Amino acid sequence: MESMIVETPQHETAAPQVLLHPGQRVGADMVRWRKQGGGAAFARALLAPALVREEIRNSELRGLGGSGFPVWKKWESVSAEPRITDKYLIVNGNEDEPGTYKDRLLLQETPFQVIEGAVVAALANGINRIIFYVNPDLARALAAMKSALEQWQASEFPAQAAKVLGTPLYLKLLPGSGHYIGGEETAAMSWVEGGFPFPRGKPPYPAQAGIHGCPTLINNVETMANVPQIIVQGADWFRALGKGLAAGTKLYSLSGDVLYPGVFELPMGTPLRELIFVHGGGLLSGKPLKAVFTGGPSSTLLTPVDLDVAMDFDSLRARGANLGTGAMIVISEGTGIVKRVAEYERFFAHSSCGQCNSCKVGTATISRLLDLIDTGQGTAADLTTLKYLCTMLPGSGRCHLVNGAVQLLDSAFRHFDEEFRQALH
Ligand code: SF4
Repeated sequence: MESMIVETPQHETAAPQVLLHPGQRVGADMVRWRKQGGGAAFARALLAPALVREEIRNSELRGLGGSGFPVWKKWESVSAEPRITDKYLIVNGNEDEPGTYKDRLLLQETPFQVIEGAVVAALANGINRIIFYVNPDLARALAAMKSALEQWQASEFPAQAAKVLGTPLYLKLLPGSGHYIGGEETAAMSWVEGGFPFPRGKPPYPAQAGIHGCPTLINNVETMANVPQIIVQGADWFRALGKGLAAGTKLYSLSGDVLYPGVFELPMGTPLRELIFVHGGGLLSGKPLKAVFTGGPSSTLLTPVDLDVAMDFDSLRARGANLGTGAMIVISEGTGIVKRVAEYERFFAHSSCGQCNSCKVGTATISRLLDLIDTGQGTAADLTTLKYLCTMLPGSGRCHLVNGAVQLLDSAFRHFDEEFRQALH
């Protein structure tokens, strides 16, 4: 998976580069990072932690791991809780969704930006333990973070943070379990506590009773990386980077049948057409576009009629789709949708943790029936069963995995029903 990162120069249009600006991409070189202005947000947070929360609220920063949940609301819940023993922050870098390659780039190219964002969040919310939770397969990201954290700990920063917090600020790099489901926030908490990454039911919510029962904030790597920029440049500046009503920038992971796959930082709300045809260079061999899996496969399909849709959380939701992680997997005419959906549903069946019968049996059944249809052995009754499962399974699991599996299938039926029928025995 790691070898699939393709860093591609932006083509033709000048886009704001906030997270991936060349000045930010200093790797684990603390001297260069400080020369480029690194540490300025930390210095401000030392002086006025409460103002940091206000700035984040005004910036309209959203959770960029897929939820799109307003960051300030999570922060408010955690900061309102007293720190009796500990308060935790998990910086979630489990990134394991097919088609998503953004957080690993930030961790390996801009580790200090991620660390500074996390420390600023800790100061603003009274947090004394930060866990950098990273996919264990991302060797380069882990190495960069390890080196950057060692340099951070050897600097004057930890003593300064401890003075403001009234207790030492503990930073830890923790490789995840290697399970896709480990990226779910309660599963991440289970792993940090030393158990198997089983998702837990909610409530209680992590903000009230997370790791070892302590208040816990969980934010994605990309979300954290935005924090220093917002604190230094201001909320108004950040909001203005987006298109329309959307704020800031987004790292879109573009892959599939395009000329230039890669991770592109563009204004939040950039139209799909611009991403594919300007930055992605268009489709391979000039083939027509057939569909785009948005947000990775646990989401919905877009088709050519959606090319001018703004890719932000609210615009896509209004069309019954999801931005998710910002992954866009492009499919050209000539590619079979049934085969592609069957591959992704196999991924979900394999990734189910098995706690909920509906998910364990449901995803396995979906995968088995799709494999039958894809190999020309499926019947009309199998198709009926799949459609029935689309109505029965949503909301039946403890976490969103089963919903994601069904959302993809349901969306594929909505757009490509005829293709499924033609594949029947
Ligand atoms: Fe596990 Fe699936 Fe239940 Fe999620 S919905 S907890 S992945 S069995």
